[in-house]
Amino acid sequence: MTGGIGLFIVAASLTPPAEGFGAHRQLGYAPCSFPMLLGIPCPTCGMTTAFAHAVRGRLISAFHAQPAGLLIAFATALATIMSAAVLITGRAWRINWYRLAPMRVTVAIAVTLLAAWVYKLATMTALTRGNGL
Ligand SMILES: [Zn+2]
Repeated sequence: MTGGIGLFIVAASLTPPAEGFGAHRQLGYAPCSFPMLLGIPCPTCGMTTAFAHAVRGRLISAFHAQPAGLLIAFATALATIMSAAVLITGRAWRINWYRLAPMRVTVAIAVTLLAAWVYKLATMTALTRGNGL
């Protein structure tokens, strides 16, 4: 629970860049080398920016920054709420992995991440065209 809250506090402290990626630079991290070297976003470009938008309730901007980042922000919020429920009620949540079919979940996550990257490739390439990236 505290991890999720801490993550959202950090996201709230960031100013989402208008470019749709690069919010991690405000935390002291180096710029992503993918756009600089290859002219395309990496599969996780925009994740931090998506969190910075999502914590402000700007869900469309978060989606545009990185669709998978918005989904992960939702998952983080859900996990935080579920953790609080466990803390309050003392009853743990259980996932029935036999019914959930881990391989299907893995494939669904992989397809989602790939689709998000394709979206980011299309939108970021259009955004940065002419900017030297
Ligand atoms: Zn990147």
